[in-house]
Amino acid sequence: MAKKGKTIVIPETGIPRDQVLKSMLSSHEHDANWKGGKVFAYVYNAGEEHYEFLKKAHGIFMSDNALNPMAFPSLKNFEAETISMVADMLGGDRKVFGNITTCGTESNMMAVKTYREWARATKPHIKAPEMVVSTSVHPSIDKGAHYFDVKLVKVPWKENFDCDVKGMKDAITENTIAMVGSACEYPRGMVDPITELGQVALDHDIGLHVDGCLGGFMLPWVKKLGYPVPDFDLNVPGTTSMSADLHKYGFAAKGASAIVFKNEKLWKHMFFATVDWPGGFYGSPTMAGTRGGGSIAAAWAALKAIGQDGYMALAKQTMDVAKKLQAGINAMPELKVLGNPAMTVFSFSFTDRDPMAIYAVGDVMEKKGWIMDRLQHPPALHLIVGPLQGHVVDQYLVDLRESVDIVTKDPALVKTGQAAMYGMLATFPDRANAKSLVLDFLADQYKV
Ligand SMILES: *Cc1c(COP(=O)(O)O)cnc(C)c1O
Repeated sequence: MAKKGKTIVIPETGIPRDQVLKSMLSSHEHDANWKGGKVFAYVYNAGEEHYEFLKKAHGIFMSDNALNPMAFPSLKNFEAETISMVADMLGGDRKVFGNITTCGTESNMMAVKTYREWARATKPHIKAPEMVVSTSVHPSIDKGAHYFDVKLVKVPWKENFDCDVKGMKDAITENTIAMVGSACEYPRGMVDPITELGQVALDHDIGLHVDGCLGGFMLPWVKKLGYPVPDFDLNVPGTTSMSADLHKYGFAAKGASAIVFKNEKLWKHMFFATVDWPGGFYGSPTMAGTRGGGSIAAAWAALKAIGQDGYMALAKQTMDVAKKLQAGINAMPELKVLGNPAMTVFSFSFTDRDPMAIYAVGDVMEKKGWIMDRLQHPPALHLIVGPLQGHVVDQYLVDLRESVDIVTKDPALVKTGQAAMYGMLATFPDRANAKSLVLDFLADQYKV
């Protein structure tokens, strides 16, 4: 096992806890400083008071284990009530059931697994199950298909990034078990036409999972605020399951997402149980065995404390920030917001120059202290806006203007920094080789 430096071992004698904490706090200072507002991804911040509150709720239940609902009835109730609140928010009725998972990826993977089990039970003639999705679907669905051996059939979007419903319909075969629509999709924050997809699902007697990891806790409020949001939730005929991340716009602590199913029968296909283990009967609803109580408790606490009025207020605040940023970006003649973003997630690129040049803009922005998120196919910069970022909008737009000017004057910048790496990877003709480069990079990250 090649290591970069010397082996790190457990200290021979324990280090005093205050010293350990001190060293951790000092290294934390060098991580992405999201409290300053310059991070437009990964972190969903609803303010200091809420943050301290989540820490307390999390701390009380940190060592409790939701693997055993009998031993920890508080956690069981938190979970069941959280799912009920989420189902209600997403247009579900009392027949909707689900569970809390550790992340959106796990929620989406459990959906893939559930449709596979459902098809095994109800369509035994299907030996090689397939799911039909749009190319914009989140990689967690790919991951689920990979883990659970389901073939993913991807349908490219149409002009202006619209989901191709007819293309998806035409891609259905006798082996298709389900489709996935996104509300919203990650790259451009667009909502797929769930009503049309639901009709296709009904016509073919297949499942329709709505990936609401990103939008599940934002779109309901944005719609109530009067913004044009197409129907996207469990109320739409044909939808059979939906995911929504508590740890994104639910403003819970990290490690919590919800997956809900239209009825109990479908939900139970998610479960695993064995009755022959010498350790006793063993059953578990999701992927994890031991389930940390902290994130479940904090999720319940977040919903209770924020309330519908709080989520509405946060959604309004966040939409205001997003709209200001979009207007500022569209006002720059060189730049345009891509597609038709429905909520607080969007991306932008150049209107007409070398598309790779947007990566160079990203590099210059990072030199100015912004943490930038990059897209490919086509190249773009991506933002997930938070409610408290109103105070950085003006600075962002000033820095962006300057960065565009710098890249305009010096087009060679596209051959340097992350722009060069992204450009290379995005256009690498040999995709298998590109993948192996990414795997090597990943492995390297976790070596000390
Ligand atoms: C974030 C996200 C996921 C996956 O969620 P994780 O919590 O990162 O595992 C799935 N789908 C969409 C659209 C997302 O934005």
